[in-house]
Amino acid sequence: MVDEPLKKHTYTKLGGNADYFITPETYEQVQQTIILANQENIPFTLLANGSNLIVKDGGIRGIVMNLHKLSDISVDEKVIVAQSGARIIDVSQAALKKDLTGLEFACGIPGSVGGALYMNAGAYGGEIKDVLLKTTVVTRAGELLNLSAEDLDLEYRTSNIPNHGYIVLEATFGLEYGSHENIKAVMDDLTFKRESKQPLEYPSCGSVFKRPPGYFAGKLIQDSGLQGKQIGGAQVSLKHAGFIVNKEHATANEYMELIKFVQATVKEKYGVTLEREVRIIGED
Ligand SMILES: Cc1cc2nc3c(=O)[nH]c(=O)nc-3n(C[C@H](O)[C@H](O)[C@H](O)COP(=O)(O)OP(=O)(O)OC[C@H]3O[C@@H](n4cnc5c(N)ncnc54)[C@H](O)[C@@H]3O)c2cc1C
Repeated sequence: MVDEPLKKHTYTKLGGNADYFITPETYEQVQQTIILANQENIPFTLLANGSNLIVKDGGIRGIVMNLHKLSDISVDEKVIVAQSGARIIDVSQAALKKDLTGLEFACGIPGSVGGALYMNAGAYGGEIKDVLLKTTVVTRAGELLNLSAEDLDLEYRTSNIPNHGYIVLEATFGLEYGSHENIKAVMDDLTFKRESKQPLEYPSCGSVFKRPPGYFAGKLIQDSGLQGKQIGGAQVSLKHAGFIVNKEHATANEYMELIKFVQATVKEKYGVTLEREVRIIGED
């Protein structure tokens, strides 16, 4: 697709257009696209579920690749292999179906498998690092590589995937057998917590900031009196101060200005630097 509006593909529902929006159906097509982008010097960006991204108002030049058509999930005894475009929520549901424990934490994370590896997504004490066995990636030269989980240097909300520019194609998770009732009870409890604490009624990108050592970002923002602070259509959520919501047709610029305002205010009041968890991509 040409000149595709990316607000259709991001959770914040904002941002400009992509010159070319490509949705490959095979691993070979992924490889061919990256090789072509290299040969022709075309900028290349991966956008998955868009739940941890702000796309700037000028959009993204060149090719934006989205892997949602590569979304198979297969379970073999205690091992699940999921393609990169599968939703991590669906992987955790597949685990529940087969009475496998370990992925309960992911039952409400709205990202794809690829995005979850990239961010080492986690919640409520669990993270991808705990369950990932291995992954298959494509390098920026178009080569397929099989990597172990350790090869990705997974740490709190980071991996080395951006340093290498890897495109994750699939991930293999190792789980344990558990009791269906227990697994379901944990997932129901986490869903309840999420729905009661997070402003899921508005578009957002989840927690905007990482947890600063020794603090909680949401608490610092709340104590700084910033809840409800609005710039244009972007607002610090009244329900969860760690979230910024797109309350009424916010632009990416307004959203980013509010992020900076929150960072500056918390720094001034508490001397704590809030590091962004959400990624900002594209052009002004
Ligand atoms: C309401 C809400 C709640 C959230 N709750 C949580 C939570 O509890 N815990 C948590 O960790 N996160 C949470 N998030 C953030 C987000 O869901 C995760 O960070 C998720 O892992 C992002 O995945 P994605 O597919 O949306 O990635 P995107 O936002 O599309 O992309 C994020 C980055 O990953 C890269 N990427 C995506 N796919 C691939 C791939 N196949 N190969 C290589 N790189 C890739 C992209 O290039 C980009 O740089 C929440 C977000 C929202 C909106």
